[in-house]
Amino acid sequence: MHNLTIAELVKGLQSKKFTSVELTQHFLDRISSLNPAYNAVITVTAEQALKAAAAADQRLAAGDAPDLCGVPILHKDIFCTDGVRTSCGSKMLDNFIPPYNATVVENFEQAGAVVLGKTNMDEFAMGSSNETSFYGPVKNPWAIDSVPGGSSGGSAAAVAARLAPGATATDTGGSIRQPAALCGVSGIKPTYGRVSRWGMIAFASSLDQGGPMARTAEDCALLLNCMASYDDKDSTCIEREVPDYTATLNSSVKGLRIGIPKEYFSEGLHPGTEKAVRAALANLEAQGAELVEISLPNSALSVPAYYVIAPAEASANLSRFDGSRYGYRCEDPKDLQDMYCRSRAEGFGEEVQRRILIGTYCLSAGYYDAYYGKAQQVRQLIQQDFVKAFDNVDLIMGPTCPSPAFKFGAKGDDPVAMYLEDIYTIATNLAGLPGMSIPCGMVEGKPVGLQIIGNYFDEARILSAAHQYQQSTDWHDLAPEGIA
Ligand code: GLN
Repeated sequence: MHNLTIAELVKGLQSKKFTSVELTQHFLDRISSLNPAYNAVITVTAEQALKAAAAADQRLAAGDAPDLCGVPILHKDIFCTDGVRTSCGSKMLDNFIPPYNATVVENFEQAGAVVLGKTNMDEFAMGSSNETSFYGPVKNPWAIDSVPGGSSGGSAAAVAARLAPGATATDTGGSIRQPAALCGVSGIKPTYGRVSRWGMIAFASSLDQGGPMARTAEDCALLLNCMASYDDKDSTCIEREVPDYTATLNSSVKGLRIGIPKEYFSEGLHPGTEKAVRAALANLEAQGAELVEISLPNSALSVPAYYVIAPAEASANLSRFDGSRYGYRCEDPKDLQDMYCRSRAEGFGEEVQRRILIGTYCLSAGYYDAYYGKAQQVRQLIQQDFVKAFDNVDLIMGPTCPSPAFKFGAKGDDPVAMYLEDIYTIATNLAGLPGMSIPCGMVEGKPVGLQIIGNYFDEARILSAAHQYQQSTDWHDLAPEGIA
């Protein structure tokens, strides 16, 4: 059952080939036998899952259940889950049990999906390798000595290892697309404002966006149908009808104009990655798409602008964790100041502290205009590059990341080398555009991702191009050794 896609599971459940309780038990068993090797899941909610599965079976028996009713999924541990620990990968929130569900969690609950548990992640979603998690790193199922990417590495590894057919994730600078690429799964970061951020623990609020991961584009479409909604509890959520993303999957790519940014094929791109991505583009061209070389001239500025804006917003967002309200509090504080200082020094890991320091510096009097103000201007330029490009093309494609999964420790001592992992993904967040990664090849036994960027609210077009590609290739069907 674990090799079936969500689309196939939906059919199996609705035609009573198996029950949700059977399916849920099957995935729970896989999590208990396989997860110790990967550390992808950090909380298992077996009892609630089986209860939800039994309720789903009743709805299915009644005959009018929504698509995802009875389908098991995992949530990234950044989404608040009522009564279930939500740690955000941090010691700071190791004891945090939210009294409410995030809107995304609520949407899945309403649809009758079954939550198996919560996935590991980089602390507060800061990272590209999952090495910053308080709960230890996630291992890449394709190569146990290599990182799964981050920050949604737990979700990506869990889907790759078939511990769940789909999972939620978030992307601030690449955290859905980069781990999806490194673990050989599909993942889409929707347009900013498409998915509610309410109850999703904030990292950099103007960039954070939730989205789904699954093995195929079709499954991502099914999950996004449920995940996307208008929510008046998130003031940046856009009031706009959610289309049925599965309805247009079969649109042909014939005549589709695909922009290939020359800046995304520059120095630093692994030759094996480039070869796989170019082959994927040739496949789409053979299906009738037109490849057009384009330029996004300010691409090189995206990483520097992001590493001012994201830490600035993070420093403001994370100021709420001070030991006084919820989360970690140091032992025997001498006075208030001591409690703030030690709770934060002991509760936050090194990368989070680095970001808070950078962010506080960039926002301080005298530096605000020089750094934060400047970065916001650069952000405008980056966004205008895309607006111009989309005057002439329908989608933009290129590699998701510069190389396949690297070994643990390879970039751990060099934050800047780690930051460059997101060189092709960050601009999309700065512009608020949707982007997806799908598997398009293998290099040295590790998966490669093709990135597909769309215009605002053009998720349906991204998903259909991805689906058309997956109809004629089988990279998305490959499984790591010992998994299928
Ligand atoms: N790797 C980037 C960072 O460390 C992006 C993380 C993310 O998208 N959450 O900030």
